[in-house]
Amino acid sequence: MEISRRDLLRLSAAGGAGTALGGLIASGVDLAPAVAQAQQLRIKDAKVTPSVCPFCSVGCATLVHTVDGQIVNIEGDPRSPHNEGSLCPKGAATFQLHINPNRPVKVLHRAPGAHDWEEWDLDRAMDRVAELVKKTRDDTFVERLANGKLVNATTAIFSLGGATLDIEWNHIQQKLMRGLGIVAIENQARI
Ligand code: SF4
Repeated sequence: MEISRRDLLRLSAAGGAGTALGGLIASGVDLAPAVAQAQQLRIKDAKVTPSVCPFCSVGCATLVHTVDGQIVNIEGDPRSPHNEGSLCPKGAATFQLHINPNRPVKVLHRAPGAHDWEEWDLDRAMDRVAELVKKTRDDTFVERLANGKLVNATTAIFSLGGATLDIEWNHIQQKLMRGLGIVAIENQARI
């Protein structure tokens, strides 16, 4: 790799700062107040809203900081008796559920046998899902077993939920799936 004069100066300055910082720490200077102050400044004018980490049934308490309606930070709530302000790595990344430029926001469809993904309108995708669910259910629905036992079920459709789906979503999903006769329903535990 070729290093330009500008790169060299920049690296030297960074090295000097690192050395100075290392020297301060080695000499016993307590940086905790400076770090705490820097963190305070970061969220100084933010509105704070208590919330709960969505990922697992531990239900760690969080604080969501917003500025002008935009989330700028999410961290553990120190008032919580069970997580006391800490979050596991997954919970600590909750911010990225909301702010993440890498997150797909369009429906992508890959037709059977195709190599490429095609962008679909959401309404078209929803209609297609409904059409396939209805067709599969109609084709596979079993009202009674061979011994005459009433089951009203299909085993051809499976419902798989995720950790961030809330209790209201799960409630509606259960009603819909059970109503369709779907018996294979799985979801991560949720508060
Ligand atoms: S995923 Fe981690 S931070 Fe979130 S509730 Fe579970 S243990 Fe707590």
